Amino acid sequence: MTGLSDSFNRPIDYLRLSITDRCNLRCVYCMPAEGIELSDREDVLSFDEIIRLVAAAASMGITKVRITGGEPLVRTGVVDLVGMLATIEGIDDLCLTTNGLLLGQYARELKAAGLRRVNVSLDSLRPERFEAITRWGKLDRVLEGINLAHEVGLVPVKINVVVLRGINDDEIVDFGRKTLEDDWNVRFIELMPFGEQQVGQDRLVTVSEIRERLSPLGPLEACSPVAGGGPARYYRFPGARGTVGFISPVTEHFCFSCNRLRLTATGMLRPCLLQEQEVNLREPLRAGASREELAEMFKNAALCKPEGHKLDQGLVPRKRSMTEVGG
Ligand code: SAM
Ligand code: SF4
Repeated sequence: MTGLSDSFNRPIDYLRLSITDRCNLRCVYCMPAEGIELSDREDVLSFDEIIRLVAAAASMGITKVRITGGEPLVRTGVVDLVGMLATIEGIDDLCLTTNGLLLGQYARELKAAGLRRVNVSLDSLRPERFEAITRWGKLDRVLEGINLAHEVGLVPVKINVVVLRGINDDEIVDFGRKTLEDDWNVRFIELMPFGEQQVGQDRLVTVSEIRERLSPLGPLEACSPVAGGGPARYYRFPGARGTVGFISPVTEHFCFSCNRLRLTATGMLRPCLLQEQEVNLREPLRAGASREELAEMFKNAALCKPEGHKLDQGLVPRKRSMTEVGG
């Protein structure tokens, strides 16, 4: 292992791996009701191809892989894929982000296959509203999935909440309260402008406002990062079992500490979520590139990583949807 870093000396050790652009929900801030144009099935990387790429990345110093999508649990054979990824030398942290609908069905097998923990996206604790935001999701199934994830040890479970003005911002305190009673690690996320988004940026609620609106629950004390760290800053209410995290890609960006690359389901390596630039790894992979050659491509992609996003200059990624890039 040689260690990967970008041209701004940021160490790069984290790969977000989208394994499908398909999803069993249509969250209003992520996808139109009719869905997106899906990639051709033959362009989607096979499990063997994914493993070859991740092994090459691991040989360069990637140690953490997060499986995402689309909805990763809709990909047939996902448990087998987790099992294969878990055996790659050098990958010591394997986790997954899901909407939770199928978590009850797979949690036990995923744990047994080598998955460490899960993040679950959950934007409302009210069944009807949850259904409206996701367009048909069933809240009780997601809550069952979260409970089972705790039970089988896919912990700490992090709950991702995208806060939307006029849609779910009146639940900020309810989510905060969940951290008092349960060992929920709730992370409030600012709405990002992306792709053919269905809700406008006028719905953005900034992290500073979210913090302000949590104040009735008491003072927030800074605490150490919950396993996996990432871009969130973590806090705890006095005596709380769980934590509250804030992710502010729009108002207080954290690009200076960005440590990640993203691989789409079709093998495009994306150095920055919020910029269009990509490196096509599928072509060389299918043309028979060696592990060393693929590793070199990871190195070059890391060097292309921009210093930061340019949302403040109006540069918004439009070509792909969040379901293709994996969030
Ligand atoms: N389907 C899985 C899920 O929902 O957790 C994984 C993929 S989803 C694209 C990954 C994350 O991106 C989710 O937590 C989702 O809430 C978030 N996301 C999607 N669109 C977003 C947007 N415009 N702004 C902020 N977060 C967004
Ligand atoms: Fe699907 Fe996740 Fe996007 Fe919701 S946020 S539509 S669950 S990919």
